[in-house]
Amino acid sequence: TDEALIAFDTLTDRASNLIQPTLRLGVTGLSRAGKTVFITALVHNLLHGGRLPMFQAAHSGRLARAFLEPQPDDAVPRFQYEDHASRMLTDRIWPDSTRAISELRLVIEYESASGWNRFFSGGRLCLDIVDYPGEWLLDLPLLGQDYAAFSFNATTLARSTVRGDLAAPWLEKAKSIDPLKPADEGDARELARLFTDYLRACKKDERALSTLPPGRFLMPGDLDGSPALTFAPLPNLPETAAPKGSLMAMMERRFESYKSVVVKPFFREHVARLDRQIVLIDAMQAMNAGREAVIDLERALSDVLSCFRPGSSNLLTNLVSRRIDKVLIAATKADHLHHESHDRLEAIARRIVERASSNIGSSGADIEVLALAAVRATREATVKQDGEELPVIVGTPLEGERIGGELFDGNRKTAIFPGDLPRKPDSFFKAVDSSSQPNLPEINIVRFRPPLIEESDTGIKLSLPHIRLDRAMDYLLGDRLA
Ligand code: GDP
Repeated sequence: TDEALIAFDTLTDRASNLIQPTLRLGVTGLSRAGKTVFITALVHNLLHGGRLPMFQAAHSGRLARAFLEPQPDDAVPRFQYEDHASRMLTDRIWPDSTRAISELRLVIEYESASGWNRFFSGGRLCLDIVDYPGEWLLDLPLLGQDYAAFSFNATTLARSTVRGDLAAPWLEKAKSIDPLKPADEGDARELARLFTDYLRACKKDERALSTLPPGRFLMPGDLDGSPALTFAPLPNLPETAAPKGSLMAMMERRFESYKSVVVKPFFREHVARLDRQIVLIDAMQAMNAGREAVIDLERALSDVLSCFRPGSSNLLTNLVSRRIDKVLIAATKADHLHHESHDRLEAIARRIVERASSNIGSSGADIEVLALAAVRATREATVKQDGEELPVIVGTPLEGERIGGELFDGNRKTAIFPGDLPRKPDSFFKAVDSSSQPNLPEINIVRFRPPLIEESDTGIKLSLPHIRLDRAMDYLLGDRLA
């Protein structure tokens, strides 16, 4: 059973933990939230002695050395740190985003403050970083649904105001097909394709929606095209059981396989073995897209948190979450804002997390929230306008970025007004909650190139600049380096 398998894994991990202290850190978030950039920056800063004043172990000079080692799990792809780092530091372009699960082991040697640790582990911690798409976590609620419930929920969501037009091509087609007709691979593929197109359209910048299960439809990993992914919800299902050989029966069977061969093993083999978890969210993108996107982010976060902090959910979740003792939700890309807004972004993110937690009947009390930029692509400055000093951020826009009609070639710096976040989150959420007041504050989001890393006088490359990455490290790793 799942329970026995998870218990066995936990026991094995505990045993090896005695010989070799290990921390399995999960890094997740919806696509483009910033997972790849976060892991690359975290590892780079540890390998190269980055500036981390708020990371106690580093600040007090107790970190002796960090290096990469082969990861313990041979069947999981390796996180290609070197490729990502060289793209970011040498080519100054952003690395390829996360598309599936991957793993990296970093060994940290430190001078332990406690005699106990010094004696047993000699001050050595193996940090196993596990990177995986947040989309996959959104599948957890599916485990509690049968095909009829899944179809009903998906169709209801698809008919909502923000989604209706995007879902139309799929819904039209789905409505024209009789669920009781003989099963046909062509129909299944066509419906799965239209349904996936609809999910993809929801994800695009203008809508920036987050709740889009089944997760593998957008992030198939190595399952692209497999039958377990070739299904779709059907509207207007009859209340009777699916007749043998019907399209409905075929869809139902595939949905059940999706749950048993894709979703469950993922939770059992990967999520259940994590000790800590960071969830990255792109709150600013959601705010810019409007209130529906913010509400949707909240909904997605509820689903994500229910994987780690279940209120009243099923057995598997309880098993999965038992081991994770710290959860950090981080609003990323804070370098798009002037520093006065960093605390405001954090306050808004905290409120989103509180709202998401209360949706699932969890207090959210033991969940930490931060605003950060794993890589700081901008610096701050002020410009004088009409005798007033105005805060701006300066960076090099990516090749092809357009600002106010001006096209950038990737080699030229520019200053922009980032826009302001409200001083108090209350006014922001009032706007989110009232449909008559749809305007949220606009942040001017320009995609900048990664920063130019300067060299010191002695020719040593200085470390990657960041915002509050050190605080995240302190929260996630600090107590294990004591
Ligand atoms: P993933 O899909 O979660 O792996 O997302 P990535 O790590 O690939 O990030 C997606 C994009 O967001 C990157 O290509 C960057 O453009 C942007 N990004 C991510 N992190 C940062 C950051 O710390 N600062 C800035 N300015 N941009 C970032």
